[in-house]
Amino acid sequence: MNFTVIGDNYKKEKMTLAFPILFFVLSMVSCNNKLQDVDLVITNVNIVDPVNQKITPNQNILIKDSIIQDIVDNSRKINIADSLIIDGTGKYVISGFWNMHTHVCWKEDLNETLFPVLLSYGITGVRDMAGDAEIMNSFKHQIENDPTSGPLIYGPGPILDGENPIHPDFSVALTETNLQQTLDSLYSKKVDFFKVYSLLPANMVEQIAAYSQKRDIDFAGHISEYISPVKAAKLHQKSFEHLNRIEELYADTAELNAFIQAVRDNQSWLCPTMIIYKRKIEIAEGKDLYHPLYEVVDNYIKAEWQQIKTRREGAASSPEKLDQLITTYNEQKELIKLFYQKNVPMLIGSDFGGMAFIYPGYSYHEEMALFAELGFDNYDILRMATYNPALYFNISTTHGSIEKGKIADMVLLDKNPVDNIHNTREIVTVIREGKKVKLPPTNNVRY
Ligand SMILES: [Zn+2]
Repeated sequence: MNFTVIGDNYKKEKMTLAFPILFFVLSMVSCNNKLQDVDLVITNVNIVDPVNQKITPNQNILIKDSIIQDIVDNSRKINIADSLIIDGTGKYVISGFWNMHTHVCWKEDLNETLFPVLLSYGITGVRDMAGDAEIMNSFKHQIENDPTSGPLIYGPGPILDGENPIHPDFSVALTETNLQQTLDSLYSKKVDFFKVYSLLPANMVEQIAAYSQKRDIDFAGHISEYISPVKAAKLHQKSFEHLNRIEELYADTAELNAFIQAVRDNQSWLCPTMIIYKRKIEIAEGKDLYHPLYEVVDNYIKAEWQQIKTRREGAASSPEKLDQLITTYNEQKELIKLFYQKNVPMLIGSDFGGMAFIYPGYSYHEEMALFAELGFDNYDILRMATYNPALYFNISTTHGSIEKGKIADMVLLDKNPVDNIHNTREIVTVIREGKKVKLPPTNNVRY
């Protein structure tokens, strides 16, 4: 039997015991030799804490039954069976990342192709922003049975849109006659929230808001074309996706200030998905956007991407349109900087499945980097990636940071992500509910 005494100023003392009986006798003699009852330990690691904006060096994280059982300084001696140790020396551990805007629950086999990719990028939680409620529930069931098989999922089932919905395959077109029944049906399927969309008439958004309040469930999504952003916040819409409608506020300071106030008063969140606007420009510029992950993207999505590419590169594109896209993007970035200064709570999402050439996992890290380019403090970006989602879902007592008693969803990084946000991609190991995730082989796809 092999075990290691960890601690004692980071010196390691290897011990081999030939017979369990000898171990038993030894453990009676010296309590120092008693093996700690754990499932996994990350030793001598730097813990990144974006909430308190600090890094605590040389810690041992003890995990038992999917929970962080204890965090102890490496100077304290504990005996751990070798097979349970992940050596964190020189590495950085952070709570698992959450992609707060993605689409992974709209086809039965996406769990096989996408989930390993998401996990390999350190994404241990997702807010699915529309798909199919039954598929989502079957994925949730699978992940409950084996948390290492995918991220924790929160989602709404289909999009709720108005007449002639923008995405007919994934939407319910609400009418006065089917509204109540649709919400009842989704509620009975235990969706986590309702996803509202651009073409919902004002009175339907109001009815969804009233229903949500009565049933204590959230609604989130696009701001309807028929209400103002301020009104959406006042109706307690929980989050605003992308920057459509919000970008209009750039030219209206009074309305912009009213919006910021309303978002704060009603505890709404912004999920800007800046990467989609950057990508639109890159497509129009004809940039090569193929990434090795293209291989794992579903054919339905690939066909959609090609259509969008052809449209944007072809007749729908012109130097004037490209200039317009760039101008809008610059204004959007100014708005986001302002929201940051004003402490508007924000989330990180990539909109994989919603926008062309947005890759699962990879583009989430691109989005993080865009916040850094705008001058966000890296600690703040890391908090948006880890702790903000836990606050958003009201699960911060169990998720969102590395603390004793919380669920062990963690990412071990080779380099310090506070020094450089790109280091969030330097992933060594991913832990889901206390278990090491088997990361996919990287020989044919460069993750
Ligand atoms: Zn989306």
